[in-house]
Amino acid sequence: MQKPCACGHVMSVKLRTVIYSKSVEIEHVPVYSCEACKHSEIFQEVKEELKQCIEGLGSAPAKQVLQFNELNELAHIIYVVSDKEYIHLTVRDIVEERINQLLDLLLISQSAGDVAWTAEIRSRLAQISRHAVKANDLIG
Ligand SMILES: [Zn+2]
Repeated sequence: MQKPCACGHVMSVKLRTVIYSKSVEIEHVPVYSCEACKHSEIFQEVKEELKQCIEGLGSAPAKQVLQFNELNELAHIIYVVSDKEYIHLTVRDIVEERINQLLDLLLISQSAGDVAWTAEIRSRLAQISRHAVKANDLIG
């Protein structure tokens, strides 16, 4: 999970807190950062979802703390991978376990007839299938 920085050093992915509009803290956002020159940039694959998350807050958001790993499946996978407790697991294990977890939830939401919840779980599963290959390439 590294890429070259303009200064010649290597940037690696870390989970950072991004502060929006001085009142919203978005925790666990994957960010590339360079130790040498302190340059940092939002991880490309989550940019769109972070933008959507910020747009959803409106122009004058109330003070709040959001967990980006709960909104974004790629951030969730990186979050789990960086947790020392799960260091023995491969990205593939984590992705598989997450898919199983979501499929269980999907069964529950469907049998409860909860349409909104079912749609949310489906969109999370879609995020995983979009991101899983990249996550494997980058972290694996
Ligand atoms: Zn640099």
